[in-house]
Amino acid sequence: MLSSPHLSPEQLSPRTVLVVGGGVAGMQAALSLAALGTPVLLAERNAHLGGQVMRLDKVYPTDHCAFCPTWSMAKACYDAPNVRVLLHADVTGLSTDGERAFAAIEVRPPAIDPSACLFCGKCESVCGKKALLRRDPRMTWDPALPPSVRVDETRCDGCGACVRACPAQAIDLRREPISLTLPVADVVYATGFEEPAPGDPGYAEEFGAHTHPDVFTAMEFEAWHGESRAQDVLRTRSDGRPVRRVAFVQCAGARDARHLSYCAAVCCMHAMKQARWLKRRQPELEVTLFYTDLRAPGAQQETYMRAGQREGVRLVRSRPGLIKESPLGGVGVRYEDPATGKGVGERFDAVVVNGGLAQCRLPGASDETGSPRPFARCGFCDEPVDVAGAAIQGVAAAAKLALKHHRPEGGAA
Ligand SMILES: Cc1cc2nc3c(=O)[nH]c(=O)nc-3n(C[C@H](O)[C@H](O)[C@H](O)COP(=O)(O)OP(=O)(O)OC[C@H]3O[C@@H](n4cnc5c(N)ncnc54)[C@H](O)[C@@H]3O)c2cc1C
Repeated sequence: MLSSPHLSPEQLSPRTVLVVGGGVAGMQAALSLAALGTPVLLAERNAHLGGQVMRLDKVYPTDHCAFCPTWSMAKACYDAPNVRVLLHADVTGLSTDGERAFAAIEVRPPAIDPSACLFCGKCESVCGKKALLRRDPRMTWDPALPPSVRVDETRCDGCGACVRACPAQAIDLRREPISLTLPVADVVYATGFEEPAPGDPGYAEEFGAHTHPDVFTAMEFEAWHGESRAQDVLRTRSDGRPVRRVAFVQCAGARDARHLSYCAAVCCMHAMKQARWLKRRQPELEVTLFYTDLRAPGAQQETYMRAGQREGVRLVRSRPGLIKESPLGGVGVRYEDPATGKGVGERFDAVVVNGGLAQCRLPGASDETGSPRPFARCGFCDEPVDVAGAAIQGVAAAAKLALKHHRPEGGAA
């Protein structure tokens, strides 16, 4: 059930387990704990459950819709009587006294109260700044429940015209954040990952992410050409020209001692997924995938990769060293030709950089701190993992806590 932002400790059972993060891993952990009879508080900082998967169009290795099964999981969490879902809730710290854990949570109630919004559109009609949005612009479908208009704080100038126009008194632009400290019996930590934002050091400068409109991050490209937002032909973001040549550059910001030293595990597959969508829709497009080594563990992923090659995705085993606007137009990619060992350059109309997916960690929450009550972790924040793996880990985290708190009679202490 949806929880009020003014949740008090008295409203929680002493057995309540906090799940931090409402992506696939966190939702699955919450549902599994609930099925085992454990009350759950599921805290998610966004306006909706589902995590990053809600931004995906379709998912490898099946190419099934990402939204439908994820939304069904979210709905199951909202409907479960022993799961309290706290949205707009950022868990900012976790501590323990040896017996219980304490969660510091900052709830930022939205300026438009979703339970009061009538979706009538009067606020939108009076806003000169176009600051009222019907859905999260990063997503094809709006997963918020109930649906409501939202305020884009980067555009709003606080003039108050929408407040006066709202017939339901649903808008308060000065809503203050609420700070909660809640005692919980245990914690499952499922905070997932983030792509580096502009200005973050997550991508090396030479990869050009956020510097040229036709250099996309993977998530941006998923939204730009996802099949459910289908454009008739793929066009550049800079000036709307039809695209002829696209490059995917792997390990940009990953497996790189200056940034993420490890492999982000999902990028080879989601790059091939996007490359195959392109070839299926526009077989005449030239699609090149620059890779370090293709990571596609298991038979299903291997089959998926080979299908992409058969469909005409060109694979080049090389790690480009520079991605930059070309003086001749488009985006230039410089790399070492694996056949000759010589540096070469090619021009593309669009380049997708993949790799810098940083795991979200909360200070003080890791087992490595030597905390007397180590918290369970699952999903991408624990180890880079795909959707299926995140769900499996959610079940495992719930099982781990169930074993910890409900020892069988006569079982080991
Ligand atoms: C471009 C791209 C395409 C992909 N395509 C596929 C695909 O086709 N198939 C596939 O299997 N996988 C794919 N993946 C991987 C997939 O996105 C991940 O496997 C999945 O998102 C992991 O789920 P998660 O729950 O661990 O993390 P997330 O989805 O990141 O969810 C974590 C949640 O925790 C919340 N959170 C974080 N910190 C806090 C906090 N302090 N307090 C409260 N809430 C917090 C976040 O807001 C988020 O909602 C793709 C990834 C990318 C980048």
